[in-house]
Amino acid sequence: MTDIYVSPQVMESQKEYACRVREIIKEKYSSPTVFLRTFGCQQNEADTERLGGIAVECGYTLTDDEESADLIIINTCAIREHAEKRALSGTGQFKKIKKDRPNTVIAVCGCMAQQEYRKDQIKNSYPYVDLVFGTDKNHLLAEMLYTVLKTGKRQYYVSGLSHDKLGVIAEDVPVLRSSDYKAWVSIMYGCNNFCSYCVVPHVRGRERSRNSAEILKEIKGLIDAGYKDITLLGQNVNSYKGDMDFPELLDAAASANGEYRIRFMTSHPKDASDKLIEVMKNHPETIARHFHLPAQSGNDRILKAMNRKYTREKYLETVKKIRAAMPDVAITTDIICGFPTETAEEFEDTVSLIKEVGYDMIYTFIYSPRPGTVAAKMEGHIPHDEQVRRFKALSAAQDEISAEKSKSYMGKTVKVLSDGNQEARNSQNKIVTLDKDVPAGTFVKVEITETKAYGLKGKVIN
Ligand code: SF4
Repeated sequence: MTDIYVSPQVMESQKEYACRVREIIKEKYSSPTVFLRTFGCQQNEADTERLGGIAVECGYTLTDDEESADLIIINTCAIREHAEKRALSGTGQFKKIKKDRPNTVIAVCGCMAQQEYRKDQIKNSYPYVDLVFGTDKNHLLAEMLYTVLKTGKRQYYVSGLSHDKLGVIAEDVPVLRSSDYKAWVSIMYGCNNFCSYCVVPHVRGRERSRNSAEILKEIKGLIDAGYKDITLLGQNVNSYKGDMDFPELLDAAASANGEYRIRFMTSHPKDASDKLIEVMKNHPETIARHFHLPAQSGNDRILKAMNRKYTREKYLETVKKIRAAMPDVAITTDIICGFPTETAEEFEDTVSLIKEVGYDMIYTFIYSPRPGTVAAKMEGHIPHDEQVRRFKALSAAQDEISAEKSKSYMGKTVKVLSDGNQEARNSQNKIVTLDKDVPAGTFVKVEITETKAYGLKGKVIN
């Protein structure tokens, strides 16, 4: 158990490395700046905030101008081929910057970089990238930067996170949050589910849960600092196994004093327990009325081939329980279109599922073979045109459902959290456009005056 947690000694040594980096860059740059680019999911966003925190501890200041940055960190995603292509072309854009300003340090990290063949590709084809590191090395950024700056040589820190290799948990990493009222709090890392199409277990390691006391301390600190919207993050939050289970952790997180909202993602349907639903029900003000429950498919043969470990019937049963406990809850999902061997009839089972559930919104993805996954080796890949046809059919069906769902808000008074620029979100995570600007991070009551499929409009009433 102990080897999961990075030792305080190692974390202390990182502070020393940060001081050494600070000394070097003071000489090397007039006012050292860091530019951060993130591809992919909320977990990557949260990781980038920690990389930013360490860079600031090393003496860099954040800039949004990559042209003038002295350190550029690209945090990549590997969930689909397209995401990797974007990350690689994104990296390619920095070639000219390095040519014009050779002292700039360019680092590539995250899930794409965690894969050995991608690390080699960057090594061989992107000579202007100075540092490549994997998903379990983020906490060592100060040490890795020191080595690059000290030696002037390119460095690679990628150790294979194969089936049995755990990954780590590093506490006390400084965080440079991108918002002063919305925050990500990672509660666990990795995944043990090995859905046959998914690369996450291969690049993020085995499930490991942070200590609940550390999580609750972080949440209390955020609430005391005025944060209003806190999202608990994990590839599979409801598999959290710290010194309490996820429903207990959520209950504790929702029981602090103050006006704030707690959200969580992502849930695996097989672990969405009655206990979790009960805890959500008992905190109508603090726990957001939004449940993201990825179904991926509505057909049992495909769910089995995906290794999802639940059936359509079991999934619908869970949805019924959630709705019975919280009639006003918004349910959203992820769906994969064109999984290998999926027939047109089996696809229609997915269309009928979204109609039966009546989701507020769905995130639809075209299946993309991921190296190292079981599905990538399967026969019967669906032609791309047909995948696109299914994608469009599903999106069109959902547009109608979402428009209908939104109509139920007409004339209602809802509490929203302003994001500034007349934009806000309600507890169901729906975008609400306000009739006037309200400072970001402020809760206001709004009367809904107009509804659209994926958005509402409202008049601020207090
Ligand atoms: S639960 Fe499945 S889809 Fe989600 S991260 Fe784990 S392996 Fe991937």
